[in-house]
This record gives sequence, structure tokens and C-alpha cells, in this order.
Amino acid sequence: MAAHLLIHDEPELEEAISLARHHLELMRGGGGLKPPLAGQINRALDLPLPRAYKRIETLHYMLEYGQEEGHNVDLLDLAKLEFNLLQHVHLKELRNFSQWWKNIYGYVQLSYARDRAVESYLWSYVVFYEKDLVLSRMIFAKIFALLVTMDDTYDDYATIEESRKLNEAIQSGRYNLIPPYQTNVLMLAKVISCKLPIFLLDRWDESAISLLPEYTTKFYNTLLNNFKEFEAQVDFSGQYRVLRIKKEFQKLSAYYLQEAEWSHQNYKPSFKEHVALSTLSSSMPLLCAITTVGQDDVVTREAFELATQHNSAVLACGKILRFMNDIAAFKSGRKNKGDATSTVECYMNEHKVTGEEAIARIDSIIEDEWKTLNEVRCEHPQLLPAVQRVMNLAISVPFFYNKRSDSYTSSKYLHKIVECLFVTPIPI
Ligand SMILES: [Mg+2]
Repeated sequence: MAAHLLIHDEPELEEAISLARHHLELMRGGGGLKPPLAGQINRALDLPLPRAYKRIETLHYMLEYGQEEGHNVDLLDLAKLEFNLLQHVHLKELRNFSQWWKNIYGYVQLSYARDRAVESYLWSYVVFYEKDLVLSRMIFAKIFALLVTMDDTYDDYATIEESRKLNEAIQSGRYNLIPPYQTNVLMLAKVISCKLPIFLLDRWDESAISLLPEYTTKFYNTLLNNFKEFEAQVDFSGQYRVLRIKKEFQKLSAYYLQEAEWSHQNYKPSFKEHVALSTLSSSMPLLCAITTVGQDDVVTREAFELATQHNSAVLACGKILRFMNDIAAFKSGRKNKGDATSTVECYMNEHKVTGEEAIARIDSIIEDEWKTLNEVRCEHPQLLPAVQRVMNLAISVPFFYNKRSDSYTSSKYLHKIVECLFVTPIPI
């Protein structure tokens, strides 16, 4: 399974993967496999270990280790105890987050938007599972829930005129020139590798609320207030990061609008053109930027750049999310009112192939994107903590799109996982 850490142009490792897969499938097909090997082989065939979510693997491993002859009972009990203690911590966070979302959802009154508190928190937990990263986890989960509401507004509800107004309000803002004599500005320039003078989107323009369709005003207020809170919750260098996230949020709104415009004009982009826009509208550039918040000690200037610029790692994550989302949507036949044609349909039309053929081709593009991510990891060993956080985002995609379905939107498959992660203690 280590072969799955391959980069581009490593045909020997590709061969090793298909050979191993072939033999594992034969072993599985022959029956007679005993636990824990049977379970391990099933999981490895479903998802290669480097792409599996570690907290879930931990649960499997504790069970399997307990079946090994000569295992250390004390060690295992301690591991279980730690897991159970952490469940309490995260369940409490989840409760706080759910209460926050319940208030927001009730206040904004946008009943067409997906109401997904647990799923949003879970997505954040896949990216940040360490106990101490509570601030990062909460900010990520909150922005995630807010961006889904924005996505659903553009896709499901707003007319094209309303979409343009919403985007105009979100783009409005006051850019402040930070004067060089301002306290700490030289330090800030050093932290963010920026030449003076520095322009920052200081705040969204509250008067832009007058531009908005009536039903979105409360959402807009919520957005402004929450970003103000995020700024207040982080330290000095973190504030700049929140401002950059705000900028990415604005860009995401512009990408959503562009998709709405395409759909409105019945415009049929080429596959390449579609992927260029829909990689960005996958929200990954914004999500990658959020990974830098709340952990100032590991996010150096270089690490910050890696996560916040639209470079190969961020775009690879974006493509994996876009393609897996579109394959799931295609398989389920789900289509929102304003959804532009998906990448699957776009590929089918352009190459005159069936859905299955298009998916097979897109699957191989997804594999290429994993190679790109592995390459980034090899190229930046000194930035590993930050790169790993971006990798966690990539790992979150097969976690939520397991078996070609969208578990964020239809989360039945997640119920058991949520129970194991946050509710039911492991028996000791
Ligand atoms: Mg959308």
C-alpha cells in the first residue's frame, strides 16, 4: 500500500499497485480469510491506507490489535481510554457547534439551504482531529456551513438578478492601506512576506445590505458578524489570515456567480474550461486557506503561501473534490436548479462517450491528482505539518464521497461513524 505514495512517472509503482490489487482480490474471492486480515484487505481494496482517515483507522486497529497474540493489554487499554476521553471533548464541541448552527439556521430563515450541523463539524474534524486545535476546528466548521448556505442560494434559489446582487454585496468592502508607521506593520510584512504598502480588505461594507434581495439580508449580516468574531478570536498574525480567508470567500462567491451565469445563458463550456472554473468553485481554495488559522507555531510564511495560493497542491485537492462530487451527483441523478452541467456530462458531450466511460477517464485524472499531492509532500519536507493539513483535506473527500455517493448531503452512511467517533465509548 506504500506504493500509493507514488508520484508522476513511476510506472513500476503503478504496476505494483495493480499486482497487489489483483492478488488481494483473488484472496478475498477465494473466501476462507480470517479476521483481522479479512477486514484489513477489504478496507485496503476500498481505499488505500494513505487516503484513509486516521481516526477511523485507529478504531479498526485497536480492535485488530486486541486479536493479535501477545498484544500488550495495558497499552491497548490506555489507547482505548484516551479515545473515550477525547470523545467527551469532541461531543461537547459538537454540541456547541450544533447550537450555534441551530441559531443561525433559525435566524437566516433560508429553508432551502442544507441543514447539516453534524456533517459540517465532522468535515472539520477530519481535517483537524487534534484536541488542542479547537479554534481551527470551530472556525473551519462555521465557514463550511456558511459557504454551503451560499452555494445553495446560488444553485437552488436565487434568480440570476438576485445572484448578481448577492455577489455585488459580498464583493463590496473597504480596502485599507495599512500605513507603514502603524504598530507591528513591519512584523506583519515579515510574517506574510509582503512588500509595503499593504492593502487589506478591512471590513465588508455593511451599507451594501441595501443592494441585497430581502431574504438574503440576514445571511449577509450573519456572514459579517461571524467574520468579525473570527478576527477577534485569533492573535495578530491570525488576523491577517482571517482577512485572506475573507478574500477567498469573496472569490468563491464570484465563482458561484460565474457558474450561475453559464447556467443562465445555457452556455456549454469545454471540459477544460469547466474544470478550470469548477476546481475553484469546489471551495477547496477557501478550505485550504482556513487550514492556516489558529495554529501559528506550525504555519510559517512559506507554509501559509502554500495553503493560500492557487498552487498545484490546492488545485489538486480542488479537482479531487470537484470530480468526486460530480461523479456522485451524476450517479444519483441529483441536479439543482442552477447547477451548471457537471464535469461528467461535459466530458461525455465533448468526447461522445457513455457515462461509465467518462467516469473511468475522470477516475484516472483523480489518480493523477493524488500523485501531484504526493509530489508536493516530497518536495516540501520542511513544510510537512502544513502540507499534511492540506492532505487531510484531500483525505476528507473520499471520506465523504465513499462508494460514489455524497454523504455530506445524504448522510445515512455517516450515522454509524458519528456514533463511533463521538457517542459510543469503546468497551474496556
Ligand atoms: Mg454550486
